[in-house]
Amino acid sequence: MQRPLTANIRPNAPPPDCAAYERAGGYQAMRRALLQMTPADVVGEVTKSGLRGRGGAGFGTGQKWSFVPKRKPGRRSYLIANADEMEPGTFKDRLLLEGDPHQMIEAVIVSAYAVGATDGYIFVRGEYKLAIARLTQAIGEAHAAGYLGEDILGSGYSLNLHIHASAGRYICGEETALLTALEGRRAQPRNKPPFPQVSGLWGAPSVVNNVETLCNIPHIIANGADWFKSLGRGADGGTKLYGISGRVKRPGTWELPIGTPMREILEEHAGGMQDGYQLRALLPGGASTAFLGADQLDTAMDYGSVEKAGSRLGTGSAIVLDDRSCPVGMICNLEHFFAQESCGWCTPCRDGLPWVERMLRALEDGDGEDEDLHQLQRHVGLLGPGRTFCAHAPGAMAPLESGLRHFRDEFERHVRERHCSWR
Ligand code: NAD
Repeated sequence: MQRPLTANIRPNAPPPDCAAYERAGGYQAMRRALLQMTPADVVGEVTKSGLRGRGGAGFGTGQKWSFVPKRKPGRRSYLIANADEMEPGTFKDRLLLEGDPHQMIEAVIVSAYAVGATDGYIFVRGEYKLAIARLTQAIGEAHAAGYLGEDILGSGYSLNLHIHASAGRYICGEETALLTALEGRRAQPRNKPPFPQVSGLWGAPSVVNNVETLCNIPHIIANGADWFKSLGRGADGGTKLYGISGRVKRPGTWELPIGTPMREILEEHAGGMQDGYQLRALLPGGASTAFLGADQLDTAMDYGSVEKAGSRLGTGSAIVLDDRSCPVGMICNLEHFFAQESCGWCTPCRDGLPWVERMLRALEDGDGEDEDLHQLQRHVGLLGPGRTFCAHAPGAMAPLESGLRHFRDEFERHVRERHCSWR
């Protein structure tokens, strides 16, 4: 099985330095792109590969890049790696950043060249201190090797690359809030359109891509779009970093062909449920995806199949709910997180999420009423897609809406028995 993204990553070993990365074939894709391909060739190959965004939304990467207007001489434009990984249960980008920082840097160089960016940023979650240290060192090595800065490899292309440590809010990972934060202002999302590709950082064309998405780029350029497509098990191409947390024997992250069934990830890679626990349901792609039931374990983990099953692939990092934990309590915990992380800009999100959390907490404390179930359902609509400024509150409604469907009897039991029997 091919694992291009994690080929250089060894558990508990330091990451390859520049020379070791090059011995493993690193920086060859950069040479190929900058010396033998035009930016349009690179965009074309990425579009042909069918690569879709690995941050959660699954938007076509080549299509996103194609929206960048033609570069005007003297005008700055930006390529930004979104490394602000804060989705609960998701720790895949951390593996790539800590384990192979030169892969990230090569990915940024090739992608920035493709979209004509003058400057690159890696916007990293502030707590990822080891990743920040390793990236900082790797950027120094790449500069010394002539892979960053002016006239890279004599190609005429120049790129400045900066690291920015996030101030630490979940909303900073939302691409427009990220841009506002990079500008040094309070991280509030902006309206889309205009999309960042047209008007982003300081109003200039800016492309924001997730770490895992970008790390695929050198491999696509080195091996071609057809090779990339052949790695997937279904309709989508490439590999995917899948993860599982919760009461499984071996929580972790694994690079597998995209389209690997959930059952295989859970049973073969995570070692199955811990002894004495049964699977009740799972969130397949992080906290802002809808529950899949235990009877949906054969779902292939690709974009289309998970959507057909009623959820989203999201980050591909699943959170498992077992049969000895309270579903209402789990959802309450998630909504507490979402309420706390609302940026407060739009009213439905700022006021609605704390209401949702309060009603769930009341159910858990034995103070819930039948009316609360009706109100929770109503809030799913009030905070749903199209009602708020960004995807934060609609994402928060995904586990609630699906939880109300999957665990209706549990919600009703909390009201009827006036306590949580799982405590
Ligand atoms: P989105 O669908 O609005 O946008 C996805 C990307 O496609 C963006 O870069 C956007 O600019 C681009 N895009 C979408 N429509 C476009 C158009 N018509 N023209 C040009 N570009 C277009 O989603 P989003 O709000 O960026 O992201 C939401 C996702 O983020 C959720 O699915 C969630 O799973 C995920 N998420 C991930 C993390 C994490 O830590 N990785 C954290 C929170 C949320």
